[in-house]
Amino acid sequence: MASNTPQQAPLVNGHAETSTRVQIIDEDKKFNADLSKWIDKWGLHNAGFDYDVVAVFGSQSTGKSTLLNKLFGTTFDVMDETQRRQTTKGIWMCRAEDLPVLVMDVEGTDGRERGEDQDFERKSALFSLASSQVLLVNLWEHQIGLYQGANMALLKTVIEVNLSLFGKTDQRTLLLFVIRDHVGATPLANLSATLTADIERIWASVSKPEGLESRILTDYFDLSFVGLAHKVLMPDKFDADVKALRARFTFGPDGFFNERYRRRIPADGVGVYMESIWEQVSSNKDLDLPTQQELLAQFRCDEISKAAFEAFSLRAKEGRRNVEGGKVVPNLGGMMRDWKTEALRQFDAEASRYHAGVYNSKREDLITAIHAYLQPLFLAQLKNLHKSALALFKIRLEEGLKKDGYDFASVVSDARTKAETGFAEGAAEASIQDADWDYDLELRQLDEELTSLAALSKSDEMKKMVNNIERMFKRDIGEKVDLELGRPGPKMWDAVLTTYLDALKKAEQTYIKKAKSFNSSQDEDDKALLTLRRRAWRALKVKVDEHTTDTLLLSKLRASFEEKFRYDENGVPRVWGRNDDIDGLFRKARDETVELVAVYSRIKPTDPSLMPALASEEDASGIDGSDEPFDFEDSLHILSEAKQVDITSKFRRDADAYFVEAKRSIVSSVAQ
Ligand code: GDP
Ligand code: MG
Repeated sequence: MASNTPQQAPLVNGHAETSTRVQIIDEDKKFNADLSKWIDKWGLHNAGFDYDVVAVFGSQSTGKSTLLNKLFGTTFDVMDETQRRQTTKGIWMCRAEDLPVLVMDVEGTDGRERGEDQDFERKSALFSLASSQVLLVNLWEHQIGLYQGANMALLKTVIEVNLSLFGKTDQRTLLLFVIRDHVGATPLANLSATLTADIERIWASVSKPEGLESRILTDYFDLSFVGLAHKVLMPDKFDADVKALRARFTFGPDGFFNERYRRRIPADGVGVYMESIWEQVSSNKDLDLPTQQELLAQFRCDEISKAAFEAFSLRAKEGRRNVEGGKVVPNLGGMMRDWKTEALRQFDAEASRYHAGVYNSKREDLITAIHAYLQPLFLAQLKNLHKSALALFKIRLEEGLKKDGYDFASVVSDARTKAETGFAEGAAEASIQDADWDYDLELRQLDEELTSLAALSKSDEMKKMVNNIERMFKRDIGEKVDLELGRPGPKMWDAVLTTYLDALKKAEQTYIKKAKSFNSSQDEDDKALLTLRRRAWRALKVKVDEHTTDTLLLSKLRASFEEKFRYDENGVPRVWGRNDDIDGLFRKARDETVELVAVYSRIKPTDPSLMPALASEEDASGIDGSDEPFDFEDSLHILSEAKQVDITSKFRRDADAYFVEAKRSIVSSVAQ
C-alpha cells in the first residue's frame, strides 16, 4: 500500500462501514484527512458528548489487537501466527460494534532502543491522552515486577505527558492494566499492588512542573487491574474473562466510562480536533489544550454556522422573491422569525457544545448575517405596505365622498387612520425584535403623502362645492334679473342689485355651512368667498351684456317708447284725433326714452349702499388658480359714449318713423 495514502480496510465478512477500520496516522506519521467523514459514517456525528474514546498501549505482539476485536467487535489486523511480524503501524481507529465508542489501536514498542521509536511513542502518548479517556495498558503477567521493562518506559512517558497536558486541570484518566496470560498462581491483588508500587515509583521520579510538586498520582489517574487467562492454553476461560471485562465497559459510576474522564470534544469536531492535535504534536510544538479547543471551536462553529446559514437562505429565497414582486407578503415577519429560529436552532444544536466564548460570538455573527439577509425583505415589505396604504386611503376617500352629505374632515381622518394603521401593523409584523430596524422615517413619509393627497382632494371638493353654489346662484338670479332688465326705469339697477345681493347672500351662507365639514382655514374661506363673489358678479354681468346688445337694447327702447306714445295711461292703444297733441306726446315719450340710454349705459343704483363691495385686482387668483384680472370699475360701464350716441340716433330714426306714421293716420282719417 502506498505509504502516503492513508489505509482503510475493505469490508470484512459483510460488515457494514460501521466496522471499517481506518488508519488515522500512517507509518509516515501523516494524519488521515478523512477522519471526520469516517466519524460520520460510523454514525457518531450527532453523538455530541455522548461517546467515549479508548486507546490501547503495550509492547508489540502482546495480543492487543486480538483483545480489542474480542472486546469491541472491531476489525483490527491481528498478527498471523506463521509470520510473526509487526502488523500495527501508526494508529488505527475503529468504532466499537454496539457502543458509541471510538477505539484506537496504537503501534506497540518492543523495547527497541531506536530514538525514532521513542519519539513516536511519546507523540502517540500525547495524542492518545489528549483524546482518550481510558488507556488500556496491555502486558504479560511475567513482565510484572521487571521494573526496567519497556512497559515502565511507556508509563513514564504517559505520566510526563499527562502532567504537561492536564497538570493544572482536574482532568482524570483511567489507566486500565490488562494482565495477559494470567496463570492465577499469583492473585490479581498481589499483581496490582506490585504494579501500583512501580507506578508510584515512576511518579516520584518524574519532575513536576512548578506549583504541582505536592500533587499525587491519583489526582490524575484512576487505576484498574484485570487479568485474562491464557488464550491458547485456556481458550474457554479466556473467552469468559473477556466477556466479563466487556461487561464493565459501561457508562456510569460502576463502569469504566465516566463523565470525569471525558475530554469534552463534541463528536462532530473530534476529527478536526485530533488532526490539529497531531499537527501540534508531530511538529513538536507545545500542546496547549485550551488553545486547541478554542481553535477547534472557531473552526467548527464557522462550519456549523455556514451550514445553518445556507439552509436558512435556501428557505428564505422564496420569500425574498415574493416580497420583491411588489405585493405585501402576508405573515412575512412570522416567516422570517421562523427561518431565523430554525437557523439558530440548527446552529445551537451542534455549536453550543463548543467553547462558550467562541460559540457566543459566532452566534452573534450568525444573527448579524441573518439580519443583514432579511433587512432587504423588510424594506421591500415596507415599500409594498406604503403602496397598499396609499391605495387603501384613496379607496376609502372615494367611497366616503360618494355618500350624500359626507363630512369631509371625518372621511379623510377615517381613511387616514385605516391607511396608517394598516401600514404600522404590517411594519410591526415584519420587524424582528432584536434586529434594530425601524420604520419611523417610512411612516413619516407616508404621513406626508397622505397629507398632500388629502389637501389635493380637499381643494378638488371645495372647487366642486363652489361650482355648485355658483350654479345655484345663476339659477336664483336668472328670471328675476331678466324681468328687471326688461323693465327699464331710474330704479332698475336698484332692483337688479337687490336681487343680486340676496342671491349672493344665500350663496355665501351655503358656502359657510358646507365649509364647516372641510375644516377649512380662514384663508381658504376668504379665498373661496372672494371667488364666489367675483363669479357671481361675472354671472350678473353676462346677463347684463346679453340684455344690452344693440338689437336687444334698441328693441327695449322701442318698446318703452311705444308704450309711452302709442298707449294711453290705461294701456289702451291711442287712435289719434285732430285735436291730439301729437308733437307734445311724441317729444315727451322720445325724450324720456332717450334718457333710458343713460340708465343702461352704466350700472348705477340710486341707493349707493346697493353697490357690491368689490375691488379691482390685477392678478385675481381664485380657488381654481385662475388669474384673469378682475376690473370691477370697468365692468360697471356698459355702453361707451360713442355707443350711446349711435344707439340714440338709431332710436331717434325709429321714433321719427312712429311720429310720421301717427301724423299720416290723422291725414288718412280726415281724407275719408
Ligand atoms: P498485538 O501486536 O499486540 O496487536 O498482538 P496481536 O493481537 O496481533 O497478537 C499477536 C499474537 O499473539 C497472535 O499470534 C495472537 O494469536 C497471539 N495472542 C493473542 N492473544 C493472546 C493471548 O492472550 N496469549 C497469548 N499467549 N497469545 C495471544
Ligand atoms: Mg496489533
